This record gives sequence, structure tokens and C-alpha cells, in this order.
Amino acid sequence: MKLVALPAFTDNYIWMLHNGREAVVVDPGDAAPVSAALDAQGLQLAAILVTHHHADHVGGVDALRPRLRGRVYGPARERIPQPFVALEEGAQVEVLGLAFEVIDVPGHTAGHIAYVQRGVDRAPILFCGDTLFSGGCGRLFEGTPQQMAASLARLNALPADARVCCTHEYTLANLRFAAAVEPGNRAIAAYTESCLALREAGRPTLPSTLETERAINPFLRCSEAAVAASARAQGARNDDSVEIFATLREWKNRFR
Ligand code: ZN
Ligand code: FE
Repeated sequence: MKLVALPAFTDNYIWMLHNGREAVVVDPGDAAPVSAALDAQGLQLAAILVTHHHADHVGGVDALRPRLRGRVYGPARERIPQPFVALEEGAQVEVLGLAFEVIDVPGHTAGHIAYVQRGVDRAPILFCGDTLFSGGCGRLFEGTPQQMAASLARLNALPADARVCCTHEYTLANLRFAAAVEPGNRAIAAYTESCLALREAGRPTLPSTLETERAINPFLRCSEAAVAASARAQGARNDDSVEIFATLREWKNRFR
């Protein structure tokens, strides 16, 4: 089983998982890179998984239907190009002989879902859309800080070796913010070095792992004293983890 990040637009990735014959893709905002990858490797498209309704995640769905041998899956509570199989919390999708578990992760959008595949050939794979990014998290377009903090906590409860397959290459910008939140965090500096080297080589910084995110991602570190102190300096009224999270998220929105 091969896991590949197909670059799309300026900073999106369309994740593709394939077995050499059949492929599943996640959040095809654009059909062209998917078609090119299928053609290049002689793959059939077995399924499309969608995490949320934004155009950069669903824009290529209809153009891919003619070559789709299976179905489109997406969140029950969002407007996804019809027809699609509507998924709720706890659903399981069977594709390529693999089970993908669905978890609700509202916050970026109201009905955002994530897919977890536990142990294809080694570590679990997490397709988390625009919820958790490497070094950051999605903007709160439709949800509350409370919801997003709870969603991130659910993702953070997965095994440490879970591979974080998010849909944007925002890592270096996120790490600049992470370093501002925690100037004394050596893991952030070391991870920034390795990500810079990857980008200079033209390679994705993803997938990350939850273990890495726990060490460097301020949005998963709201109960760390240093993170709380920085949030307090930005106006957080107490050390409650949702208050810290909400303050960090607003700070990040205006951080340049
Ligand atoms: Zn989005
Ligand atoms: Fe997006």
C-alpha cells in the first residue's frame, strides 16, 4: 500500500492511497493532478473520500466521476456534490479491503469529518482535512473554539505514531507562529530545520506524526505552562485550555 501526497493549487495536497491497481483519493479539490497520477501508474479510482465542503476539497469530484469505479463518501451534515454516501460519526468505509473509521471533528466547518485507517502496513493513517495541520490548526469558519479544541483532543487521542495527512502545506508558516508562542521550545527549532530542508528539496513536510505534533504544535499544547503564559500575555483571562486555545487561534489569525 502506498501513501502519496499529490500537490494541487498553491499549497494543497490531495492524498492518494493505492495498492498498485486501485486507488482512493481524499479531498480532490482539482481533478487534474489525480487524473495524471492515475494515468501515470495505471491505477483505477476505487473511491473518493471528502472531509468537508470547501471548494479546494471538493472542486474535482464531479470531473473525476467518469473514471470512478466506486462511490464518493463525505460528511452527512455538509453540502457535498451529489450523489455521495453520507457519513456520520462512527461509520466505517470499506475501500481497497481497508476500513476507514469516521470521526466528527467540527470547528473549521460545522460538519467536518476525519478518516482513520488503523495500521495499513505500519502506523495508523489520519486524513484530517483542515482540522489539524502540522504546527497548527484550521481557522474557525463555522465552529466555536470549544468545538475545535474538542476535535483536536479527539485526534490527539490517536496513537503517537499515527501519520497526520492534512490537506495544506502550511508547516513553515505555522512553525514561525509556534516559535513565537514558545521561543524556548528546542523541538520547534529542530523540526523547522528539517522542514526547511524538505521544502528546499521540493518535498512535502507531510505526513507528520502525532508524536511530532505533541512536541511542536501550540494548539495541542494548551496545557503547557509556557504556552499558557504566552496566551496570557495576548489577553487570555485564565488558564482554562479552551480559553488558551481561543486566544492562540485569534493571535494566529493576525500573526504575520
Ligand atoms: Zn477548508
Ligand atoms: Fe482547505
